[in-house]
Amino acid sequence: MGTEFLRIISLSFLGIFITLLQPITVLSAMITDVRFWSAPDHTRIVLDLSEPIQYESSSQENPPQYHLELKGASLYTPKRELEVRNTFLDKIKLAEPGRGKVKLILHQKKLLTVNVFTLKPYQDKTYRLVIDLVDAAQEKKEREERQRQKEIKPKGTKIVVIDPGHGGEDPGAIGQKKTMEKHIVLKVGEKVVQLLNQNKEIQAFLTRKGDYFIPLEERIRISREYGADLFVSLHTDGSFNPQARGSSIYCLSLSGATDEAAKILADKENMSNILGGAVLRPAAFAKDPNLNQILLDLMQNNSMKESFRLAETLLGDFKAIHPVKYSSYRQANFIVLKAPDIPSILVEMAYITNKEDEGLLNRNDFQEKVANTLNASIIKYFRP
Ligand SMILES: [Zn+2]
Repeated sequence: MGTEFLRIISLSFLGIFITLLQPITVLSAMITDVRFWSAPDHTRIVLDLSEPIQYESSSQENPPQYHLELKGASLYTPKRELEVRNTFLDKIKLAEPGRGKVKLILHQKKLLTVNVFTLKPYQDKTYRLVIDLVDAAQEKKEREERQRQKEIKPKGTKIVVIDPGHGGEDPGAIGQKKTMEKHIVLKVGEKVVQLLNQNKEIQAFLTRKGDYFIPLEERIRISREYGADLFVSLHTDGSFNPQARGSSIYCLSLSGATDEAAKILADKENMSNILGGAVLRPAAFAKDPNLNQILLDLMQNNSMKESFRLAETLLGDFKAIHPVKYSSYRQANFIVLKAPDIPSILVEMAYITNKEDEGLLNRNDFQEKVANTLNASIIKYFRP
């Protein structure tokens, strides 16, 4: 009994000793960066954190402000004020009112819907606290505008939706010279839409018009609101092998990928939702109970056949401007290609991780060549 007592005493001392050795810094989460991304209907604010954080929110109406008190946190970024100046948000302020306390103050121009959530570390990203400020009235207006486009389109007009991949928190693949996929695909996307709109019988729209993230499922929903007859998602490839280069074209597969490389690529592109921070609003993606499964399968089969037809045409045309990786299109389970009622393809224009391809992707004349090729192939597709 005596030795047992001594053992407990010595263990207790050991416990105290270990507690004293703990570094003080673990008591506080470090905020290492703050940034924001503005979309027409929302602004996303992102804080990089060393670990998850406790927070308390409050808002006031006049002037409209949203406050977030972060507990057990300290600022490790020099940024204290970020000017946003869009239609609904003026600026973002960060303050340290006391030890271990950080306050985020959002100066709004009107009352907004706020969504706060944490994203777990992924690849080179740390914990992230995401604050979405949504202008619900603008969101509704945008949706109605898309639906109006569908209603007023002249008979016989074809609607094409061009989808620049990634955006905002998700940069996509990054080149040796730090060129980001999200910027290149937006530039090419804008050029394609402009060219397509010069054709009388075609109306073209973009899913994303700036540097912000749209979840993959929402890109499909936007296309459907426009009443798309065709959906083209634009990407640039990336590889650990700097020698890998060339263009490739992909369609959906419902029964596994055509090859391992296509599967890996689809998995990587589907990761966009995790990197970009998708918050799925369940109502927007609920299954329509009025849709008959047999009808849906018929639609999907037809859409896929049409996708293959465009992919073949585009692949033939692409050969004239850049080496293609495979002689035929490939198939895999890409989330963004899953609309059963819209023929959809995904284009990997070139390898951003290859020195020569990265150089080309940055050049205006190459971007124009790609846009011209897409335009020509799409016209051929509609006039077989
Ligand atoms: Zn991509």
